Amino acid sequence: MSRKVTDKAVVNRPARHVKTIIIGSGFAGLGLAIRLTEQGRRDYLVLERGGDVGGTWRDNTYPGAACDVPSQLYSYSFALNPNWSRSFSRQGEIQRYIQAVSQRYGVRDRHIFDCDVTSARWNNDRSVWEIESTQGSFTADTVVCAVGALCEPALPDIKGISEFEGEVFHSARWNHDADLTGKRVAVIGTGASAIQIVPAIAPEVDHLDIYQRTAPWLLPRYDRPYTTAERLAFQYVPGFQRMYRAGVYAARETQVLGLAKFPGLMRLFEMIAKGKLRHEIRDRELRAKVTPNFRIGCKRMLISNDYYPTLTRPHVDVVTDPIAEVRKNSIRTEDGTEREIDALIVATGFHVTDSPTYDTIVGRDGRTLSEVFDDSGQQGYKGSSIANFPNMFFLLGPNVGLGHSSMVYMIESQINYIADALATVDRMKLRTVEVRRDVQDAYNKDLQAKLAGSVWLTGGCSSWYLDKHGNNTTLWPDFTFEFRRMTKIFDVAAYDTSTFRADQEAVAP
Ligand code: NAP
Repeated sequence: MSRKVTDKAVVNRPARHVKTIIIGSGFAGLGLAIRLTEQGRRDYLVLERGGDVGGTWRDNTYPGAACDVPSQLYSYSFALNPNWSRSFSRQGEIQRYIQAVSQRYGVRDRHIFDCDVTSARWNNDRSVWEIESTQGSFTADTVVCAVGALCEPALPDIKGISEFEGEVFHSARWNHDADLTGKRVAVIGTGASAIQIVPAIAPEVDHLDIYQRTAPWLLPRYDRPYTTAERLAFQYVPGFQRMYRAGVYAARETQVLGLAKFPGLMRLFEMIAKGKLRHEIRDRELRAKVTPNFRIGCKRMLISNDYYPTLTRPHVDVVTDPIAEVRKNSIRTEDGTEREIDALIVATGFHVTDSPTYDTIVGRDGRTLSEVFDDSGQQGYKGSSIANFPNMFFLLGPNVGLGHSSMVYMIESQINYIADALATVDRMKLRTVEVRRDVQDAYNKDLQAKLAGSVWLTGGCSSWYLDKHGNNTTLWPDFTFEFRRMTKIFDVAAYDTSTFRADQEAVAP
């Protein structure tokens, strides 16, 4: 179980040196911890700010929370789960899976939970990372930042919101003590979280206002419980589950053609989505309100069978007039209408390209990751390293996100790369390893050239995929097997390296 250090114990304690520190224990950090353990390396620690593993699946406990990637693909390849109860797993089941995997692979004792990293600073003289946390100070030869992109809730900057007197909380910080039964509730946002929350809470509330800034595209959700026969087959028929998984993977991968290469193909998805909309919303006025005005795929495509039907219920309203202000117990829109509410749910997404975490990481030249990203945009190399940040690797760094398939696949590709990087550093007795600026620049030029024709840049929307320079710095613009191929082996030639002098220890002080 977790090794918890009390606050008292850390007072005045000297920094503890660890060879590798992994920050964050979602699918990414946990997966790397398992790989290192499997390789016989126990010289690492995972610092996790929460009280358990799971990351986004631990934090997002809102009603209706579920995955929009099929269960068979949304798991580690080395720990398939024959017991998924349905084709699209719900949050609780995924969280239990992650917990079970962390137990099975015996990595929980390498975790320090409730350990919030407040800063990570590169010390050039000693070639170590100096880390401050709520559980004391650490130094590390190498840090792997696995905090994920969807971990810092973005609260909307709406006039008066802090004056609201009722319950108010973000979708990713659901207040389970707040009873919404019989209440007048407002939801701000119509993204992936909101479209799951709305149908889940609608039956219990007295009235529901949904504040929509941009109408999302919705596709059918082919969700159903697995039959007993299927579950038995997953468990006992050799190769069946792998074949099933490969089929799901291949079907998903075809979407890359439309999303990244030939956006015109996305019209096919648009036809399906429009048919669904016509079928599920008969009222022309409401249908017009929720019809998107951009090419499907430009923002994340959402899947739901109960969102549109919920919008047609008599006690549910979609409000498209922009919000002017939040008052003590109401929301006023710019057209002057004031709607009274008892509770406010902000489903407004996350700080993705402007994560506060970036302010806490200080690189070789004394600049924070935020400052580096401010100058050059959120650029990295293979999503796994960033120039100016020696001996630091990233899981889910720039341009590894997906709009169509399982992030666990991308994470496992990166784990291959980073585990090989750590092994290379040991084998070559490297003191420092830092991606070359020219290599990173060329890599990003190529990425942006590929992205230029993608639906994310040509589809006529603004989204959290884009940074403030207008570049898509979050998504991978190609087939995922291409990413797997390019991350198979750590390409040390792409890195500036230094070795230990003869009189220096290969382990930092
Ligand atoms: P999101 O996709 O960023 O959606 C945020 C919503 O809030 C959008 O509708 C946005 O409108 C709106 N919004 C933001 N600021 C606003 C403001 N100031 N005033 C009014 N509206 C505002 O966030 P999310 O729904 O939490 O989802 C984030 C990501 O999490 C998803 O894209 C997905 O990758 C992941 N996710 C996945 C699942 C899953 O099933 N696997 C479930 C939930 C979330 P605009 O569109 O106009 O910006």
